Amino acid sequence: MSKIILTGDRPTGRLHIGHYVGSLRRRVELQESGLFDKIFIMIADAQALTDNADNPEKVRQNIIEVALDYMSCGLDPDKSILFIQSQVSELTELTFFYQNLVTVQRLQRNPTVKAELQWRGFSESTDGNDNKAGTPVGFFCYPISQAADITAFKATTVPVGEDQEPMIEQTREIVRKFNATYGPTLVEPEIMLPDNAACLRLPGTDGKAKMSKSLGNCIYLSDSEEEVRAKVKGMYTDPLHLQVSDPGHVEGNTVFTYLDAFCKEEHFARFGECFHGRKVRFDFHSLDEVKAQYRAGGLGDMMIKSFLFEVLNDTLAPIRARRKELEQDLPYVYEVLRKGSEIARAEAAQTLAEVKRAMRINYFDPGVLEELIAQQQERFQ
Ligand code: ATP
Ligand code: MG
Repeated sequence: MSKIILTGDRPTGRLHIGHYVGSLRRRVELQESGLFDKIFIMIADAQALTDNADNPEKVRQNIIEVALDYMSCGLDPDKSILFIQSQVSELTELTFFYQNLVTVQRLQRNPTVKAELQWRGFSESTDGNDNKAGTPVGFFCYPISQAADITAFKATTVPVGEDQEPMIEQTREIVRKFNATYGPTLVEPEIMLPDNAACLRLPGTDGKAKMSKSLGNCIYLSDSEEEVRAKVKGMYTDPLHLQVSDPGHVEGNTVFTYLDAFCKEEHFARFGECFHGRKVRFDFHSLDEVKAQYRAGGLGDMMIKSFLFEVLNDTLAPIRARRKELEQDLPYVYEVLRKGSEIARAEAAQTLAEVKRAMRINYFDPGVLEELIAQQQERFQ
């Protein structure tokens, strides 16, 4: 069986370092591994509209931002198919058929949707007359549309962050139900989570559980060096670590979580003596040593933050530089998306045809109509 990847992001903002460690970095590695027959990377504009219906311009503007982020991180249009969800209308048709295989009660149990409804203030009750309050049906059903996205490309592997686990489980249930009801047609996908625990759900700079575009606690891949420096400086650490000499907590300390996600062994040799041109003594050889010293006391937050800035910037500087180049060639980037959407559409159309065949709603396919007429004629004889 071929090995196929489908994953993507909502164009609700520029991508941040949570996306990078949660999924983007892995995608590029998988792309370069040569182990996959096809890689589909989707900009989920239709899904973004489910909670931004009143602001389609926001979604429209962010499509190019996400595409630029993708390509500057190393997603290569010669190796991966980058496309825009709304341009593949077959996906909405699949969603419509899958909706019949899922109950409202099952959707209500989805923990990610539950949390998101709460953040967005959708879960507050409404009398149904106020357009603003209450949950848009499209938003509530987005796990089903995600099942359509994944199955349309017969994806075997979905590299995503931890918050997507319930979505992949939902997809697997739909696949099993579909295949049991209509015959084997769809492929059951596997989730691929980051192998580094710190990357499963990177917290925000404010220490909140998840860095998220919608929560405004992000370090963006496209932030300037100065912006990153300022954000790192203002980051949440250990509120009990007031004096440098105080013992500090590493667990729940966002600075250490980011170091866990980004720090490489080589960074100690490279940044050990000098942070951005300023001579300092940061005499450690591993993150474990740094943590031990912080726990014991005697290591200040500013020192750790300076190190973190260097570590982050080491990853971000080349991404930033590549982005600057791509920003000068937008017709090329849009052409990549146009071509990718065309390829994706052809692929999804094939699966949709198979789905309709399995459901026997392919009335006008060659051979089917003749058989149907013959069958009905018998009834009316
Ligand atoms: P929104 O708030 O609009 O939902 P988001 O920041 O949650 O935006 P998505 O586009 O929903 O981003 O998520 C895209 C991908 O990035 C998913 O695979 C998701 O698991 C992953 N991801 C998002 N935020 C994080 C994070 N903080 N840590 C790890 N992975 C993340
Ligand atoms: Mg999200």
